[in-house]
Amino acid sequence: MTQEAKNIWVLVDHRGGKVANVTLEALGLARKLADASSQEVWAVLLADDAGSVDTERLIACGADVVLVAEHPKLDAYRDDPYTDVVTHLVKSYEPAAFIIGATSSGKSLAPRLAARLRTGLASECVDLEWDGEKGLVAVRPMYGGNVLATVETPEARPQLATLRMKSAPRPEPDTSRTGRVEKADLSGLEITDRVKLLEAVETGGGEVKLEEADIVVSGGRGVGKPENFALIKALADACRGAMGASRAAVDAGWVPYAHQVGQTGKTVSPKVYIACGISGAIQHLAGMKSSDIIVAINKNPDAPIFKVATYGIVGDLFEIVPLLTEEIKKETA
Ligand SMILES: Cc1cc2nc3c(=O)[nH]c(=O)nc-3n(C[C@H](O)[C@H](O)[C@H](O)COP(=O)(O)OP(=O)(O)OC[C@H]3O[C@@H](n4cnc5c(N)ncnc54)[C@H](O)[C@@H]3O)c2cc1C
Repeated sequence: MTQEAKNIWVLVDHRGGKVANVTLEALGLARKLADASSQEVWAVLLADDAGSVDTERLIACGADVVLVAEHPKLDAYRDDPYTDVVTHLVKSYEPAAFIIGATSSGKSLAPRLAARLRTGLASECVDLEWDGEKGLVAVRPMYGGNVLATVETPEARPQLATLRMKSAPRPEPDTSRTGRVEKADLSGLEITDRVKLLEAVETGGGEVKLEEADIVVSGGRGVGKPENFALIKALADACRGAMGASRAAVDAGWVPYAHQVGQTGKTVSPKVYIACGISGAIQHLAGMKSSDIIVAINKNPDAPIFKVATYGIVGDLFEIVPLLTEEIKKETA
């Protein structure tokens, strides 16, 4: 599929009527690219009942058009129906570029789409630019975050990218913006649905989401045993943040995988990341290196985590973490 630039799409990631922050961040970024290239921003909303999502807010955050695809099989994210419907929409409307949030569903959908549409994919991008000739230019970390690669796909369309959470600022909604809501025609489309969703279980209900938290407190092997993670959780709660963990702690069964930060876990980019009893292996750094401030607590002064830390505390986490928690509680009382 090759064509002239037309418009930039953003997939709306939503659950229970709530739109994911990364969608809003992607809309803000897409708006910037579209303004620079006289294109429109389209928010693409798949749902069984789109009425639960505030389309006005999507427009206020940068969309010119909200393209709504409604079907009973789009009640919750599943690979088959989403891939079928999005492929159909892309073929019908031929966008120039398509940005998808690097959420777990986005990371599952994007490569499927790329294969179906025979186009490229720049995954886990931290920035996107627009070039008059090449179109979308994507910036993504490689080699565990040690280099930033610029990815160009000048031939294939649509140019597909997944955007990491918190890579772009969330736009201030501008309620004076106007846009239109367009209904996609799915009549006659055969939608596969091989997976039956039996139950959706929220993990850590009511807690701050790891990827969206402004403060993340993580524990590693140095925490020693599962019960000791209560200390890490107490500090995270005192900071109104989220709890993370290294893979060593997850592999030992001390905390669920949902908390793992790193190359094979989640990527976080909070304002403050506090690493407790974590050595700073490259695979861990890959998931938290872009945090604004990194505080490392480790009893080994030569631990590699201190090389990336803004503030390093050499000492025993079992003394330092409770002290920090108490001080923060006093400050925020
Ligand atoms: C393909 C691949 C993917 C991987 N993906 C990930 C990933 O996503 N995330 C991840 O984290 N790792 C990942 N790893 C594993 C990674 O290489 C490390 O093994 C892991 O990060 C180590 O975890 P850790 O820092 O908790 O443990 P360790 O390296 O054992 O470090 C423990 C640290 O705790 C300190 N300590 C001990 N006791 C105390 C105390 N009382 N007070 C203060 N400090 C103390 C020690 O000095 C030490 O520095 C991956 C590895 C591979 C090969």
